[in-house]
Amino acid sequence: MTARHQCWGQRRKARGNASARRRVFEGQEGDSQDRVLISLRVLRATGAGSFLESSTPTTAQSKGIALFMKVALVIGTRPEAIKMAPVVRALRNDPATEPILISTGQHRELLTGTLESLAMVPDHDLALMTDSQTPNGLSAQILQQLPEVFHQVDPAAVLVQGDTTTAMAAGLAAFHQQTPVGHIEAGLRTGDLDSPFPEEGNRLILDRIARWCFAPTAGAADNLRAESIDADRIVVTGNTGIDSLLWMLAHPETVTIDAPSRDFILLTLHRRESFGAPLRAIVHGVCDFLQIQPEASVVWPMHPNPNVRAALEAAKSTVVGKQIQIVPPPAYGAFCQLLAQCRLVLSDSGGVQEECPSLGKRVLVARETTERPEAIDSGHNLLVGRERAAVSAALEQAWHEPIYDGPIPAPNPYGDGQAAERILSVLKNQLLRC
Ligand code: UDP
Repeated sequence: MTARHQCWGQRRKARGNASARRRVFEGQEGDSQDRVLISLRVLRATGAGSFLESSTPTTAQSKGIALFMKVALVIGTRPEAIKMAPVVRALRNDPATEPILISTGQHRELLTGTLESLAMVPDHDLALMTDSQTPNGLSAQILQQLPEVFHQVDPAAVLVQGDTTTAMAAGLAAFHQQTPVGHIEAGLRTGDLDSPFPEEGNRLILDRIARWCFAPTAGAADNLRAESIDADRIVVTGNTGIDSLLWMLAHPETVTIDAPSRDFILLTLHRRESFGAPLRAIVHGVCDFLQIQPEASVVWPMHPNPNVRAALEAAKSTVVGKQIQIVPPPAYGAFCQLLAQCRLVLSDSGGVQEECPSLGKRVLVARETTERPEAIDSGHNLLVGRERAAVSAALEQAWHEPIYDGPIPAPNPYGDGQAAERILSVLKNQLLRC
């Protein structure tokens, strides 16, 4: 029996107990219903792809014993927690898989409330957030600390989500250990390395090294094919963010924010490439609109980054506290309620662009480019840029559109709420094969 074909069972006991491993493998110990952990070393020795394609069935497989695997999921920021939660749930609900949730703590403040909303607790928390954190400093910490956690967990695969420094560095750490990486929300592109920065670069790196590129849309899959990513690594799943939104709407929290009325505009801004003059111009545009429409109001959940708060200086004191209500960023559950209640949204957020079509709310996208063209093409969202006059004019126009009421007019191009199940199915089909 070669190392290549070894499997072992009883996941809790298996580590560090070579004779037990041998006995289970040979069928002498443990009932045959035991879940059997794929040896990560097998995957590492050959690379997941070649192992899966070329190996003969293991004894366990040929006996039809259900196999078992751990999957590590690494998160560091609010959107990663939101979009990873459905995958954690799917893995947890499947008896053949166990999710191990690892947080880098890249954005501690925003992450904590989000995890509570989603009823998730990380199994490992690196708690890496520091003041004046840089992408290089954070990457270095992650690359230094995560391998030890991976070593303890011994996952059959590592999943990362999106385009953060956490996702990029965690994917690289797993790649260096020859553990197969699944990139959730693969293939998003603006084609501009400076916008969003550093996210566009992070996406490119991840999609090159991932074993599975889980693309949310057909367009994202096209982007990957255009970069000559192997077709067998690309799977269109839908966006797990839609799974999460639908889950949250089905498990509503009590809203802690006193929203002014149904007719408020929800504002979120946080993109690094907009810090400074562009953010101030957007805020000026909002204030110009509010002066024209004195009955309109804005709820602005303020991102904790000081560069975002600095843009408040551009807001006229005549509107702040009157027509503009600044609130601390609500946890995800409360934020979903705000999305459901507002009249329209002005935002530079990626996740918000994806969520609003499910709620029949229009997003005015305060950016020059977007990697989420589907909701622009479908007519749900509008790309309005970051110029003061353009923002004000777009708000004025959207404000006079009829308030949307009734069934959602068109399907959300970002997903149907089944993305996590599709990801689970790929992992099981390719790693368990029983
Ligand atoms: N969100 C939230 N509270 C807020 C603002 C946003 O829970 O105050 C959620 C929102 O519903 C979406 C995600 O956070 O799912 C988007 O995060 P963010 O805009 O920070 O990142 P991006 O999506 O642009 O990467």
